[in-house]
Amino acid sequence: MVTANTKPNREASPLSNSQLTPGVVPGRLRADAYRDNFSDKEPPLDAHEAAVAADRCYFCYDAPCTTACPTAIDIPMFIREIATGKPEAAARTIFDQNILGGMCARVCPTEQLCEEVCVREVAEGQPVEIGRLQRFATDALMATGRHPYERAAPTAKRVAVVGAGPAGLACAHRLAMKGHDVVLFDAREKPGGLNEYGIATYKAVDGFAQKEVDWLTAIGGITIETGKALGRELSLAGLRAEHDAVFLGIGLAGVNALRTEGEDKAHVHDAVDFIADLRQALDLSKIPVGRDVVVIGGGMTAVDAAVQSKLLGAESVTIVYRRDRDHMSASEAEQHHAASKGVRIITGAAPVRIIGNGAVREVEFAYTREEGGKLLLSGETFRLRADQVFKAIGQALDGAPEGLELSGRKIAVTGPGRTSMPGVWAGGDCAAGGDDLTVTAVAEGRDAAEDIHASLIG
Ligand code: SF4
Repeated sequence: MVTANTKPNREASPLSNSQLTPGVVPGRLRADAYRDNFSDKEPPLDAHEAAVAADRCYFCYDAPCTTACPTAIDIPMFIREIATGKPEAAARTIFDQNILGGMCARVCPTEQLCEEVCVREVAEGQPVEIGRLQRFATDALMATGRHPYERAAPTAKRVAVVGAGPAGLACAHRLAMKGHDVVLFDAREKPGGLNEYGIATYKAVDGFAQKEVDWLTAIGGITIETGKALGRELSLAGLRAEHDAVFLGIGLAGVNALRTEGEDKAHVHDAVDFIADLRQALDLSKIPVGRDVVVIGGGMTAVDAAVQSKLLGAESVTIVYRRDRDHMSASEAEQHHAASKGVRIITGAAPVRIIGNGAVREVEFAYTREEGGKLLLSGETFRLRADQVFKAIGQALDGAPEGLELSGRKIAVTGPGRTSMPGVWAGGDCAAGGDDLTVTAVAEGRDAAEDIHASLIG
């Protein structure tokens, strides 16, 4: 069975070793096809479309959509503001609860959250387009270039926020708004975390992740230091000594290993590296892709890697997941999106061997079955031709921060992100509890900031 030990995410980039297999090549498509394939997945609403979409809202009392939103955005309120021609006021309503409302409008699985419980969905099978309306409003305000919040009077308190992903950014912004000085550290070259490196290119086009960071930090009081990682350039003890509080939003930088025979063959990569390479590529036609691509996993990362392989020109792309579709963490909408792009999904099978002479040529899978709550391999196997394989079987902490208690494989927290160490909070994917969603990370970062503020000010 697939096992899940972690190893640091330092595997060679998929850009690096295309020489071993002629099938893995860049430039499979006409030059203009890349632009078309990787353009906005869902184009923004124009003003008329937004007015029509907003008009469908019943402005429910005790709105179930707001209850379903992890950041508790007052959804009927912002939709009413759009309906009455005030998109910037609508954006302010959104940002009051979720300062990364622009990115969440692009990546939230709304069909599992607010739109799933929308009374229009329940009654008619067609929800109000909450996500697209949120994007309409937040884009309108961000396009003005104005930052809508002002800082409170300086408190002379200094807080270290480690990790400039969704949780860290939300925490840093809320702390800065309260008048604290924030130093926002990130291990990578650019801030943004998952938003910058970990989602499909067509979900956040035109450098939106960077634009959002620039807009958010325009509040002032936030200093960004990149290229600094906890356990490398930074220590928890050092951060605590130099700051009044510390927030950890370090995500999950370790990648689970398959521990399957042949995993070290050429063109077997971590899907997160492939996705990051695509996001940072200046020219997508330079990214090598196989003719027959196999992606192992069942989450969003698997879908993002598979769909983008197809969009780069792979002829056959297959996702193989060890359990049934209901257990896939990729949403139904994402699964349909993958299918619509020609990605095949095989469930109930796990890899047992990666075959090839130097480079991967085939992957052997065994069908799985559940017995007493355990997933077991049946003796029945099949093989898929593959000249490129992406592993997307989950991520984990890349080394636990020193001195912190863990819960399972994540940092243990109570209440609004308090860790076992006084003065240290944590939130987002690295912290136990909550879904691994951007919007949940934003809520946790924001709530931890409120708790940090209360503890600093008393
Ligand atoms: Fe509007 Fe649907 Fe929310 Fe009701 S549940 S307030 S109709 S978006």
